[in-house]
Amino acid sequence: MKRWEREGVIELEELDIPGEEHLKKGVAIIECVQEIPCNPCVDACPVRAISMEHINAVPRVDYGACTGCGTCVEVCPGLAIFLVKIEGEHAQVTVPYEFVPLPEKGDRVTALNREGEHVCDGVVKRVRKMKTPVVTIEVPREYAMEVRNIRVMS
Ligand code: SF4
Ligand code: SF4
Repeated sequence: MKRWEREGVIELEELDIPGEEHLKKGVAIIECVQEIPCNPCVDACPVRAISMEHINAVPRVDYGACTGCGTCVEVCPGLAIFLVKIEGEHAQVTVPYEFVPLPEKGDRVTALNREGEHVCDGVVKRVRKMKTPVVTIEVPREYAMEVRNIRVMS
């Protein structure tokens, strides 16, 4: 049994990690590993970069086609899609965030890993107030594949 089945935490080895050239462009990383009948991400992608073999299959991203627009992040009911963009020594990580209060651009937040543990501090670069709000933070590049949530500092 895989760890996500036991504890709900996905290991990096279970994900399709984009290469450096795609990370520099900024792409969606889908951390959806359970075979469930769901596909809003496929329908929402304006460039058809997300595909599924069948309705119960896990979605795949064509990193060459993905433009990093973030639409799929907003529509995923499982909060399972993130954007990662590498810029020099920094990474911009975009996460869905359904708590209040929402942070504001320029705020410092606590960046958390998949287990909800502190990784580092991050700076909010963008907040999109959609049905599912989407927050982009900047963190040191080495944490690009670790940071997947935030906690607003009080
Ligand atoms: S970020 Fe935009 S282009 Fe990339 S997979 Fe998501 S919806 Fe498609
Ligand atoms: S919308 Fe989210 S939960 Fe549904 S298949 Fe796509 S990534 Fe998985």
